[in-house]
Amino acid sequence: MVTNLPIYLDHNSTTPCDPRVVEAMLPFFNSAFGNAASRSHAFGWQAEEAVKCAREQVAKLIGAEPGEIVFTSGATESDNLALKGVFEMYAGKGNHIITCNIEHKAVLDSCKHIEKLGGEVSYLNVKENGLIDLAELEAAIRPQTILISIMYANNEIGTIMPMKEISAIARKHDVLLFSDAAQAVGKIPVDVNADGIDLLAISAHKMYGPKGVGALYVRRKNPRVRLTAQIDGGGHEKGMRSGTLNVPGIVGLGKACELCLMEMEEETVRLGSLRDKLENALLQMDDTHLNGSKGNRLPHTTNISFKHLESEALMMGFSKELAVSSGSACMSATPEPSYVLKALGLDDELAHSSLRFGIGRFNTEEEIDYAIEQVTKTVSRLRETNPLREMHKNG
Ligand SMILES: *Cc1c(COP(=O)(O)O)cnc(C)c1O
Repeated sequence: MVTNLPIYLDHNSTTPCDPRVVEAMLPFFNSAFGNAASRSHAFGWQAEEAVKCAREQVAKLIGAEPGEIVFTSGATESDNLALKGVFEMYAGKGNHIITCNIEHKAVLDSCKHIEKLGGEVSYLNVKENGLIDLAELEAAIRPQTILISIMYANNEIGTIMPMKEISAIARKHDVLLFSDAAQAVGKIPVDVNADGIDLLAISAHKMYGPKGVGALYVRRKNPRVRLTAQIDGGGHEKGMRSGTLNVPGIVGLGKACELCLMEMEEETVRLGSLRDKLENALLQMDDTHLNGSKGNRLPHTTNISFKHLESEALMMGFSKELAVSSGSACMSATPEPSYVLKALGLDDELAHSSLRFGIGRFNTEEEIDYAIEQVTKTVSRLRETNPLREMHKNG
């Protein structure tokens, strides 16, 4: 029996805090409330120790050194810091950045800002499977190229970019590589050294940690990456990000990383089989279309178009039972079809008829069975009364 309705299947937008994360955070709101920068008393030392432990937990999950982790307010800030910080710091070397057109808005809008400051940005197209073309990437590199920014995994379709191949190209041409890994870290193995990544953005609330905290990995050797700070002040985080540290949030992020590392192998298998069950059942219906690549994909994500139906109508149809999304959460207030789906070559109608399902740590098989039932029922009901489909059938 499924009791807690609606069932949350939108884990690419955000995730609930794991109770073990909340428990780890609680003392740092009151009894251990110290400022991690206070060097003169035990309150400060206690906070500093907790931050040190979290820094190790985050670093371990991505194969980094603790000294390479800069705490931020989330992946949006990390994206801004990486792009704008490199652009300013390496102005003497060049002004050209390469990214792709299915990046998160935090990357795309930072690039737009950089263009206004006189930077040049190349936006690579992706193929129908959601991946960039490596030959196109290499061809886009110029003598002035200072940074390649390619997301690790896409938030809407879950496709995973070939980071090792991308970094081989970046290294060959002596260009830094940044990756927005908000959707990948904690879900699939990420190793900044094996993957050859120089800067990497992390968000706690995408991995069962709290909202408003994240990190930027900044490589310290081979090569040593330097950044111009975007927030000036007390010189926290080695001068790269000033502001009193969010100690409870950082402790939560650290704990979330520890749990993801511990449970990743098992969770990948469990979520993959739930996702495949859901996906296979939904694709049984007529006029359904899987968006993105089936192979290189996050285990918990699927994005499906239901031809001739509007995703808004579908979501309204089962809003008491299921919480899913169409396009990305940041875009759902606007009626524009998802730019990610359009970049894959979907026409407006198909892009408007897509739903993203993101399964998470606390979903059960019963809930997935229930979701299959609800979506199937709603699709059939709407199609019976859908004038577009009738017109299509009658030519
Ligand atoms: C969620 C997300 C972000 C933004 O992260 P916040 O921590 O919410 O600022 C950036 N990039 C990707 C790919 C995301 O999924």
